Amino acid sequence: MVVDGVGRRILVVEDEPVINQAVTDRLRGSGYDVVQAWDGPGAVEQFAASAPDLVLLDVMLPGFDGHEVCRRIQAERPVPVLMLTARDDEADILAGLGLGADDYLTKPFRMRELVARVAALLRRVERAAELAAELAVRPAAEVGTLRIDSAARRVWAAGAEVHLTPTEFDLLLCLAAKPGDVLTRENLYAEVWGWPGASGTRTVDSHVKALRAKIGADRVRTVHGVGYALEPGSTT
Ligand code: CA
Repeated sequence: MVVDGVGRRILVVEDEPVINQAVTDRLRGSGYDVVQAWDGPGAVEQFAASAPDLVLLDVMLPGFDGHEVCRRIQAERPVPVLMLTARDDEADILAGLGLGADDYLTKPFRMRELVARVAALLRRVERAAELAAELAVRPAAEVGTLRIDSAARRVWAAGAEVHLTPTEFDLLLCLAAKPGDVLTRENLYAEVWGWPGASGTRTVDSHVKALRAKIGADRVRTVHGVGYALEPGSTT
């Protein structure tokens, strides 16, 4: 088995001590450096103190919940977030994705699945430069009043920097590769999530909604029943 976690730090946030420890032990066994938190305020503190590369975040937590934790940490620094939800509750999942979670797992989950999802999310973030090259987005691309630094994963809208989550950034990068062209949801699932053939629409729609809230609603055009396009010359 490949030990691929070396050099990466993960923050595990889960109030159930047995689950927290089991997840922590399993990730340590895969080579990750793991730090732990058991409630909302503790998660935000530990995030600032330990600068993790990825956050595993339970939704129901004492203090304040995982959605609030996600909102606070993403405002501080964009980081990949994998949400753990107790129920297969679509509203709950969509709320999390809209607040900056990149992916989610429903409890009870298999440890093997968890480790695979963590590795996939880290790979996705780390292949951003590769994705930019694949998509032929210039290292410093300008689309209308948006400026995108694909190497540093930074974005400015009309001169002001906006903080995007890893998934929001990848979405923007895909759309920016062909400004004005419509990308179907299937295209976006394949490019951003690495899920060719995925057909669910809610995940991508939630992330587009979050992206719009940050870069300006009029910059991303919806083509009903098809997909999305980045407005090439938007100057507002
Ligand atoms: Ca919980």
